[in-house]
Amino acid sequence: MKKLSFNFQNIDTVQGYCHQCDEESILVAIVTEFYRCTNCGADTKQHINGKIRYIQLTDADKEWLRKNGEKR
Ligand SMILES: [Zn+2]
Repeated sequence: MKKLSFNFQNIDTVQGYCHQCDEESILVAIVTEFYRCTNCGADTKQHINGKIRYIQLTDADKEWLRKNGEKR
């Protein structure tokens, strides 16, 4: 398991299913609506529609993340 240097006390984490590594994992909020899997490092987008789902990022999402993410 790849260790990522997050401080879990100051940021949002949720337990969820990561479609990239096919495992239950801790997902870390990198920016609003976007979560990163601590298991494989993949980024997922949170979609709230009655329940929380994790959907794969589109190219537009990745581009947005490049511009707006990684600020922490
Ligand atoms: Zn993963």
